[in-house]
Parts: sequence; C-alpha cells; structure tokens
Amino acid sequence: MAFINIHSHNLVNNSETTTLFNCFPPSELPNNHFSVGIHPWYVHPQQWEQQLLSISQRLKHPQCLALGECGLDPFADAPLALQERVFIAQVQLSETHQKPLIIHCVKAFPRLLALKKQLRPQQTWIVHGFTKSEQLAMTLLQHGCYLSFGAALYHHPKLQEFLPRIPLDKIFLETDASTYTIQNIYARFAELKNESISLIEAEISKNFKRVFSL
Ligand SMILES: [Zn+2]
Repeated sequence: MAFINIHSHNLVNNSETTTLFNCFPPSELPNNHFSVGIHPWYVHPQQWEQQLLSISQRLKHPQCLALGECGLDPFADAPLALQERVFIAQVQLSETHQKPLIIHCVKAFPRLLALKKQLRPQQTWIVHGFTKSEQLAMTLLQHGCYLSFGAALYHHPKLQEFLPRIPLDKIFLETDASTYTIQNIYARFAELKNESISLIEAEISKNFKRVFSL
C-alpha cells in the first residue's frame, strides 16, 4: 500500500508515496508525477493564452496526471471575469486531455458550482485544501466533486468536528505548501476518522484508481 499526495508544492521522492507535484509557473518537469495548470494568482492578461499552450503541451506528458491547480480567487490580481475565462479554458483542456481538475477556490463556490452545472464536465473536479463548512462540503459532494484535505486537519476545529461524516469514497489528502509530510496528514486524518491508517490508504488508493482511470 502507498500514500497518495494529491497536491504538493514540494518534490518528495520516496518509494511509498505517489505525489502529484504542482509544476506551474514554468519550471523543470519533475522526474515523477505532476499536475500543471494556471493558478488564479498567475493569470496574466497578456500571457494567459501562451500559458495555456504550454499547459496543453505538458498535459501530453505521460507523468502528468491532472490539470491544476486552477480556479477562482477574488484576492488574486487578475479580475474575476478574466480568471473565469482562463478557468473555463482549462476545464475544456481537462476534458480534451481527459485529466481530472485540481481546483483552488476562495470565496467563489457558488460561481464554481454554477460553472460545473453549465459545463457538465466528465472529468472529476477535486477541490483541494478544503477548509470550509460541512454544508458546503456536502453541497460539493452532491455535485460530484471530490474534496482534498491537508494541514487544516491539525488546526481547524469545525473541520475536525464534521470530518467523521465525510464519505471516504470522495476524498483525497495532500500536503500542498505545508511543512507536514503526507504520512503526518494520513495519520491525522485516520485519527479524526477513528479508522486505521491502512484502511485510509486502501480507500484513497481506490479513489485514485477510479478518478485517474489507472
Ligand atoms: Zn497549492
């Protein structure tokens, strides 16, 4: 059994972990699995079309498993209308290349869900770094999204309280840019779920195979 880190900004190579390293803005391609996408913070009015071309090239790489992170964030410099345009273009790329989407969404969940209804994607949308309410978690799950949890498992009391009610067949775990290891995150998640780490590993491995058609 192995740990799966669905979203990381740190390259960690070890035999017991499958890590999706986030590799945009342009950088050397890692020697393991990665995702590539334009984060809302890096949406640039004069560069996004060129950036999309670069992403569509990288999506063809056999080690590229997902498109992302991409999404909507009102705190980013780019206006929301442009962010949305770039996000929709990435949804289309995700469909063309048949790669699931890793989503960064801040204060824009109603719009995200409206876009999901409108675009009707076949690929799974994984909302990464989920820290919001139980109600929003359930709404996202009802719309077919998966949720990925990370460092907030350690210091977010509301999340800790409702986590036992989140179904295991719709989740992933991640380290994102935190200093926790994925082993830490699995251990914490298992503790909050009152399950063994090996059961969590088995469930997430099943999710991984299902969503990524492996
Ligand atoms: Zn991230």
